[in-house]
Amino acid sequence: MKFGTKTIHAGQEADPSTGAIMTPIFQTSTYKQASPGDFKGYEYSRTGNPTRNALEQNLASLENGKYGLCFGSGLAAIDAIIKLLKPGDEVISTNDLYGGTYRIFNQIFEKFGVKFHFVAMENLEIIESLINKNTKMIWAETPTNPMLNIIDIKKLSIISNNKNLILVVDNTFATPYLQRPLDLGADIVMHSLTKYMGGHSDVVMGGVICNDKNIAQKLYNIQNSCGAVPGPQDSFLVLRGIKTLHLRMQRHCENGSIIAKFLQDHSKVKNVYWPGIESHPNHQLAKSQMHGFGGIVSFDLIGNKLEDAIKLVTNTRYFTLAESLGGVESLICHPSSMTHAAIPKKEREKTGVIESLIRLSVGIEDAEDLVCDLETALDFL
Ligand code: PLP
Repeated sequence: MKFGTKTIHAGQEADPSTGAIMTPIFQTSTYKQASPGDFKGYEYSRTGNPTRNALEQNLASLENGKYGLCFGSGLAAIDAIIKLLKPGDEVISTNDLYGGTYRIFNQIFEKFGVKFHFVAMENLEIIESLINKNTKMIWAETPTNPMLNIIDIKKLSIISNNKNLILVVDNTFATPYLQRPLDLGADIVMHSLTKYMGGHSDVVMGGVICNDKNIAQKLYNIQNSCGAVPGPQDSFLVLRGIKTLHLRMQRHCENGSIIAKFLQDHSKVKNVYWPGIESHPNHQLAKSQMHGFGGIVSFDLIGNKLEDAIKLVTNTRYFTLAESLGGVESLICHPSSMTHAAIPKKEREKTGVIESLIRLSVGIEDAEDLVCDLETALDFL
């Protein structure tokens, strides 16, 4: 099955009891048993629910993985993955990553004795120098949020295989339409399904996909034991959203390209961060690792003034000021005071998240309207 067909069909058969084409929302917490332990595959909806399972199979198929699991949010998915570790274990992580991921690592799991090293992963030598007998996992986000750096998954997987580590890739920004980390050697892929996968800004959910049976069994046990599962209605919405993932991503990429080029030529813009720009330091790598460059575009302003950034983000019409990304509608955000406020200023600024940095989630509206909107807002400065 090709990708577009998978988005619509993988994990989904017409309902055998009614013929319903769309996977029903099995809004039930429990299931009838003929006698104790004799049930039709489902006993309790934390452990398994048919709507959620259809989504889990669909996700596994899209990522070319064997096992898929869903969680109540992207962070609940991250939480489950880190629970594969034990006190004393160490993780080497991208330093340019979603602020909430940094927060759960730093504020929650450090307390339980897991140690995190945050590094710029474009430099693979730094990673090798940090690996010791306690290192168990490498955590990569690529493209990174919000600086759109690209990390070489294949090269990372060689390092992690040599040292018997688990390589996790947060594939939220790219989606399996643009990048399939398991094919490039990663062990686990995670998603905030809240973003492009759901695609309509109406659900919060997370997903994890892997190929290794042993890892999958541990994750199922964590999913069932800790219980951060999504409900069937949300699972239905994400399944529905995924049916147009390939079409939406094509348009996100096209619009991202138009906006990035417009910003690059604007006199009030200093740097534009989008991996499709030829001068982007990781452009060649992005070209070889991804099938397109996505719809997230970040940029900063000449003079780096906070008040300019605030003026800009509060004067757009179609780009709505809001956290999150990946929906059909365009959003604008000020990372240093919003999505990345949990990262200390000094750490943030090291990665480029300065006061005037602005992140766009370019939606699938008409590009002309989006360009006009940004042009008008930039005129206010
Ligand atoms: N990973 C990335 C790259 C994100 O952007 C986000 C949220 O913005 C998350 C993980 C966390 O996902 P959620 O908000 O669904 O918990």
